[in-house]
Amino acid sequence: MKKKPKRRPFPKKLSRQYRWQIMRKGVGRCPICGKKPDKRAVKSKLCTKHLKAQRLRMRKRVGVKRPFLSPEEQADLDWSLGYEVVAAMTGRTLLTVKRWFTKLVVGGKIKASACPDHSAVAAAMHRKSKVREVLDSV
Ligand SMILES: [Zn+2]
Repeated sequence: MKKKPKRRPFPKKLSRQYRWQIMRKGVGRCPICGKKPDKRAVKSKLCTKHLKAQRLRMRKRVGVKRPFLSPEEQADLDWSLGYEVVAAMTGRTLLTVKRWFTKLVVGGKIKASACPDHSAVAAAMHRKSKVREVLDSV
């Protein structure tokens, strides 16, 4: 008669730390600190702090020279100065800054009237009807 194999939750080879991290992930928590995961971290289940740290590490590895700006940080910029000043301040191109602003307006984080150049965006994006609607309604 065959002996029934004993069930182990994990193979024995894994370290105690790694088992703990997998368990954290299994219960839907950050594997590093155990806090609630960020909603953007769908697969990794990292919390906001560790997601940011991971992103910074990756950007360093890839060789990105400019720091990451979250949508919240983008909304905090002084948009009343116009696109060119914001682009110079952040070291981005004019096109990137315009894209940020349009996304912020569509996302409702900022009003289209916050930037004096916003009518230029409206004209440039006029193919996209959704953007058009949002900009016109403000
Ligand atoms: Zn964490």
